[in-house]
Amino acid sequence: MPDEVVVELIADRLTWPDVQDGFMLDGFPRSLTQAEALEETLTKMGKKIDAVINIEVDFSVLTDRITGRRVCKNCGATTHVKYLSADDENKCAECGGELYQRADDSEETVKKRLVEYEEKTQPLAAYYKQKNVLINIDGQQDIKKVTQDIESALK
Ligand SMILES: [Zn+2]
Repeated sequence: MPDEVVVELIADRLTWPDVQDGFMLDGFPRSLTQAEALEETLTKMGKKIDAVINIEVDFSVLTDRITGRRVCKNCGATTHVKYLSADDENKCAECGGELYQRADDSEETVKKRLVEYEEKTQPLAAYYKQKNVLINIDGQQDIKKVTQDIESALK
């Protein structure tokens, strides 16, 4: 989808009553062009971004997390190969269904996604830092601690 269309959709969504006290965008913007278009639109609407959460995880850790992910064909539960033993390698712990790796999670695709991230999305950290809204969170901690850190950063 072209950037202008995405930003237009978001702008429209931001006129709904349920987001008048605030909103959170997840995984958007992903490029400087999108960030600039978003800012222009928000300014017109009299809104602004208060905080940008940047969850930092080493590429090697991220690659391991994603390429090791398995999904159950039957119930959709996700797990990681590190939790599977040799005899239940292919079996869902929840329902016994067959596990598979999504095409998006293959090593080749992950590498491509990380290169794209580095080129297009990474520059957003500097962009938002300059605007004094960037909050870096250590994403390699326990998930509960990550949640805690985000919540206290937003207070
Ligand atoms: Zn299952």
